[in-house]
Amino acid sequence: MLEIRWHGRGGQGAVTAARLVAAAALREGKCFQAFPEYGPERRGAPLMAYTRLGERPITVFSQVREPDVIVVLDPTLLREPGLTRGLKADGLVVANFPGPPETVRRGLGLTGRRFWTVDASRIAMECFGKAVSNTPMIGALLRVLPLLSVESVLAEVRESFAREFAPGVVEGNLRAIERAYREVQGEEERVAGPSGQMAEVSEAGSMEGRAEETSWEETPWGGLIPGAPTAGRYVTGNWRTRRPVLDLETCIQCYLCWLFCPDTAIQLKEARVVGVHELHCKGCGICAMECPVFAMRMVEERPDGRA
Ligand code: SF4
Ligand code: SF4
Repeated sequence: MLEIRWHGRGGQGAVTAARLVAAAALREGKCFQAFPEYGPERRGAPLMAYTRLGERPITVFSQVREPDVIVVLDPTLLREPGLTRGLKADGLVVANFPGPPETVRRGLGLTGRRFWTVDASRIAMECFGKAVSNTPMIGALLRVLPLLSVESVLAEVRESFAREFAPGVVEGNLRAIERAYREVQGEEERVAGPSGQMAEVSEAGSMEGRAEETSWEETPWGGLIPGAPTAGRYVTGNWRTRRPVLDLETCIQCYLCWLFCPDTAIQLKEARVVGVHELHCKGCGICAMECPVFAMRMVEERPDGRA
């Protein structure tokens, strides 16, 4: 049995990707499971989906805890704490990233396992005009791990997308699969980490002061954050696709950003606004909206953490 964990953001099609691969497996007479694990129901928030494939009936019904493959649909999720949690010793990471795998490994301090990258967002934009990376990431996955024939996947995408999308969009997605299949880049050999284990994200690449992770079993029903003092336990910073940047020279210290921030992410020092807490800022943009002098502005989140 092979287990895949898909990491994406709401709206990027991770759940659809998990389902499409499973449906293609059915075409080949294989056994499968595909299911999502939603976090907050919000476009742009991180979510995971899982696919299990096997030659015999699958009798495990839990979440995938020790995946063989991790597929990352959004480059900003490469900085997410715990991204490679449970990945098997000979596991693979296939990431949407516009550079070679070595760049990500160096920049983020990922070590061990095998790493593959493909510029899936660009391929998607060029093939069907939307940065929805799910279909190109399926193409990359098929090349990295020839678990299914490309023909089965193309047939499944053609048939299921034809029910929802215009012919041009369907053809664009098929082209995106084929392009990503050709363009994905892999490391030639494994790079073992110091302990032979896949490190998660290094000190340099991680968000400073990582909070203790809360598992789904510990999360209150309804995903509630039960009180202000508990906010520190919830790493809402990993939802972010845009980040606020503070210009201290323009800031007039009016505290409006601090007052309105829903995540208590504005940092004060000696009663002055000095910055934004990376771990808890979810990138909602309210601080920039409220700032009366435009001292706070929103910029695109980048995988290397620079503004
Ligand atoms: S974008 Fe601004 S208001 Fe929103 S969470 Fe981050 S710091 Fe707070
Ligand atoms: S709202 Fe703008 S001016 Fe006021 S403290 Fe925040 S960044 Fe400074």
